[in-house]
Amino acid sequence: MSAPIDPLSHILGIAGPCAEQRLRIDWPNSENYQIWLKRDDLLHPIISGNKWRKLKYALLAAQQQQTKQIISFGGGFSNHLHALGYACAKLDIQLNAIIRGNYSAHPSPMLADLTRWHAKLHYVDRNTYRQRDDPAYLARLQADSPGAMIIPEGGSQYLALRGVTEIVNELSTHYEHILAPVASGGTLAGLIQGTAHLDTQVTGIAVLKGQGYLESLVSELLPNETKNLHNWQINHDYHLGGYAKNPLQLAAFCAEFQAQTQIPIEPVYSGKLFYAARELIKQGVFTPGAKILLLHTGGLQGARAL
Ligand SMILES: *Cc1c(COP(=O)(O)O)cnc(C)c1O
Repeated sequence: MSAPIDPLSHILGIAGPCAEQRLRIDWPNSENYQIWLKRDDLLHPIISGNKWRKLKYALLAAQQQQTKQIISFGGGFSNHLHALGYACAKLDIQLNAIIRGNYSAHPSPMLADLTRWHAKLHYVDRNTYRQRDDPAYLARLQADSPGAMIIPEGGSQYLALRGVTEIVNELSTHYEHILAPVASGGTLAGLIQGTAHLDTQVTGIAVLKGQGYLESLVSELLPNETKNLHNWQINHDYHLGGYAKNPLQLAAFCAEFQAQTQIPIEPVYSGKLFYAARELIKQGVFTPGAKILLLHTGGLQGARAL
């Protein structure tokens, strides 16, 4: 399982594949399952785990094409822009970050990092930001910056799936269930694609209010041959008030989880994933004895502002 590290991972300092670890925790009913973790939070100290998976092949293409400029989108705390900003600095690519909202008076720690890494920040209002996938808007951005590579919000594009499927390829054994948080859908789509020929159920935990919307984001990212797969679902019961909301029960859960396991989590993504996992295990929704893999996607930088 020691795949050679590719040159890009080497330049960026991405860690090699890390074996799954058993989660030993006294959640109600957990004795009926085998609960494992894939620690993508350990891939890199700065580049957030699943953002690396989603960006890997876009960055490889940028390197091969000698791209000088990348344009991408995100909120003021975006793990995607943060990961991309660090990678662009290392690869000597100019990042133009289009940011929802004007943070110029009070830049978040994430934006301060981007500035330190020489990214150009472009603050736009919500209406402009809403055009981020609009072909006419993207054509104008492209015309203003010929040769620039445009990467969608969250890094979620078809090219992202290949990097995410590598998570599945690295696994040392078969799991009946894989659970991961969902926001822009690329991670879940990659897991669905990666498990297409395995008898594995993929469950996305929605971290925002997006019933129906998240399902269509994911299915639009899937290639035709996997669009009809039924090996996946999105659970909408654990957004806990919406994106980046951190109600008391979630904050308390995260503190207790970290104290019990020494594994760092944050409330925006991994906290909701583990919270949901505890509840679903308590409810006994999985077949007794099942091996369940929880994907720790990283994202700890985002919690600096909370
Ligand atoms: C972006 C992010 C997610 C969500 O992944 P999507 O591919 O956008 O659905 C999950 N966890 C962390 C830590 C993230 O930064």
